[in-house]
Amino acid sequence: MQRAGAQQMSNRDRELGMDRTITRRDFLNGVSIGIGASLLPGKSAWLEVFGVEEPTFAPEKSPDYYPPAKTGMRGSHDGSWEVAHGLRDGQTWPDAVDEKESYDLVVVGGGISGLASAYFFRKFAGANSKILILDNHDDFGGHAKRNEFKAGNRLLLGYGGTQSLEAPHHYSKEAFGLLQELNVDVDRFHKYFDQSLYKSLGLKRATFFDKETFGVDMLLPGFGTHYLGVEYPHEILAKIPISEPARQDLSRLQTATVDYLSGLSPEEKRRKLIKTSYKDYLLQYVKVHSDVIKIFQSAPHGLYGVGIDAVCAWDCLQMDYPGFKGIKLQSTEDSPEQAEPYIFHFPDGNASVARLLVRSLVPGSAPGSTMEDIVTARMNYARLDNPGSTVRIRLNSTVIRARHLGDPQTATEVAITYVRGGKARSIRAAHCVLACYNMMIPYLCPEMSVGQKEALAYAVKIPLVYTNVQIANWQAFQKLGLSGIYAPGGYFSSVSLDFPVSMGEYRFPSKPDESCLLHLMRTPCQPGLPCKEQYKAGRWDLFATPFDTFERNIRDELGRMLAEGGFDSARDIQAITVNRWPHGYAYEYNALFEPLDRPDSERPCVVGRRPFGRIHIANSDADGHAYTNIAIDQGYRAVQEITVGAKRETAASA
Ligand SMILES: Cc1cc2nc3c(=O)[nH]c(=O)nc-3n(C[C@H](O)[C@H](O)[C@H](O)COP(=O)(O)OP(=O)(O)OC[C@H]3O[C@@H](n4cnc5c(N)ncnc54)[C@H](O)[C@@H]3O)c2cc1C
Repeated sequence: MQRAGAQQMSNRDRELGMDRTITRRDFLNGVSIGIGASLLPGKSAWLEVFGVEEPTFAPEKSPDYYPPAKTGMRGSHDGSWEVAHGLRDGQTWPDAVDEKESYDLVVVGGGISGLASAYFFRKFAGANSKILILDNHDDFGGHAKRNEFKAGNRLLLGYGGTQSLEAPHHYSKEAFGLLQELNVDVDRFHKYFDQSLYKSLGLKRATFFDKETFGVDMLLPGFGTHYLGVEYPHEILAKIPISEPARQDLSRLQTATVDYLSGLSPEEKRRKLIKTSYKDYLLQYVKVHSDVIKIFQSAPHGLYGVGIDAVCAWDCLQMDYPGFKGIKLQSTEDSPEQAEPYIFHFPDGNASVARLLVRSLVPGSAPGSTMEDIVTARMNYARLDNPGSTVRIRLNSTVIRARHLGDPQTATEVAITYVRGGKARSIRAAHCVLACYNMMIPYLCPEMSVGQKEALAYAVKIPLVYTNVQIANWQAFQKLGLSGIYAPGGYFSSVSLDFPVSMGEYRFPSKPDESCLLHLMRTPCQPGLPCKEQYKAGRWDLFATPFDTFERNIRDELGRMLAEGGFDSARDIQAITVNRWPHGYAYEYNALFEPLDRPDSERPCVVGRRPFGRIHIANSDADGHAYTNIAIDQGYRAVQEITVGAKRETAASA
């Protein structure tokens, strides 16, 4: 890999392997294109077959176009965000080319919500409905991102975003029904997910204490975030590199049944815990040593994108964090009997759900028909935007405007303008679903009411980074007895072996001497600020961080964590894909910073998602919950609004 300034590389960089050649392809090489562009008409035949000129900018038609196999910086990759940021900063694109295309529905955003919107619309409006989906990325799926790697001839699959179907039996009937119609039988994951593999090898979660935070580098198997509610044996506590008074406080925190809020009624306690961060609860009520805070600081990163300074104690009680034994308040979370195991995972995460949706929507986009064969199916990107198809997906296209042609109350069409290949282009649609990031909608529809625009702009999406690192083998994990590591002071706050899922023709690398993927998570938060400020600062941090910085930190952190197991970053790292999501999870209305008794119906996401003439709003943002089922539910709701409106129009004209 060529890097700027490689000649001045430090000895430490050389030790880490920053000069090693690792996979950082821009396009897939060496994999045959089974059903590639060859099935599309040649240049001269295009006009004859489709009755339109062949587009001049169409990278997706190239036989080499295969985004899942790209490595390096992915997620919101360069090329996907510049137009949107230009729009925010006042850039204009005069003279949009009229593409002379009109659709029954144009969907903005090709994530799961946008794809589900197209799916439901086709179901309600009929198989001949003309639908176009526009997305700014080079791949469809939004956060549901597939990362492919090659270990010799073997395919390794990772998830670059949306990880698993969480508790799918609790999904709405629409979301669960959609999965069923796509031939997903979630119960089969009990067979596909090898729940005994890591246990059979004696692997446990561990915590890595880093010298910058704890004074010494130390890996402690058997102590990790997954055991937060557990009482640790004395011999484990004795090893934690904190001061003796802090160790005693940690032990007390776990074991004592003290009511730290005595004198308050259960409702007063609940309110107090909602308006107190877990950090403040520990310091002010449990009165622990500040070293204890360091251990728990990053524990909620994966769910909240911030640490315990910005997560309320009430939420931590729900998650079984220690310190609440004597408080005697009921958790409102599912009881263990109701909870479902965390096993509903395709090898590429919910990218498989997006791929199943695309296969169902766009004829010829992928071979096969089952939930198993989609896992290894190669999508034919050249087919996605085919003039001969009723449903089309146009990638690399950022929408900059959605405008009614006339009064929004009476208009019969919406004009949608997008930038593709540097040029603005315009199309028309009878209906438009904006399944894109909701805070961008005020820029697309400036004529919306001030109240609606403010409500849409209220949320700040949560930035985070999901990184896949291909390593030569996972013997170090076996030797050290680890399946995953929590790193409270680390650049990446967690490192895990991938989920052991084999399905269809895909085989998980279940032997420690096989090449496999590690999953690393980073949340670029800024402890001490209110959570939305942390998210904004983290977003800029992500945009400003070059790939080299991620790579150096990956090599340094893995090397230090796994050294005792014989891991050598320079030798053992084979490929890296960093999925940065400056606009990650939907903002989930962090209770610590939100009004206490606001009814659900007054949440800004609910106010913001109201229909605006023929424009409807989907995306998981529209319900303020970062989940796949919510993305589907919001797509369903947006389409329901369209069908109700259409019925009203038919009745009025009868
Ligand atoms: C790292 C990560 C992990 C997650 N893990 C899980 C999980 O395990 N389980 C779970 O249920 N959920 C998970 N989620 C939540 C996830 O966001 C949802 O599950 C779901 O995938 C969101 O889909 P969506 O369509 O609402 O939004 P998105 O996936 O964000 O799709 C919206 C699309 O619209 C595009 N867009 C935005 N503006 C424009 C424009 N102007 N023009 C064109 N296109 C535009 C965006 O770029 C994006 O591609 C995770 C999210 C992240 C970020």
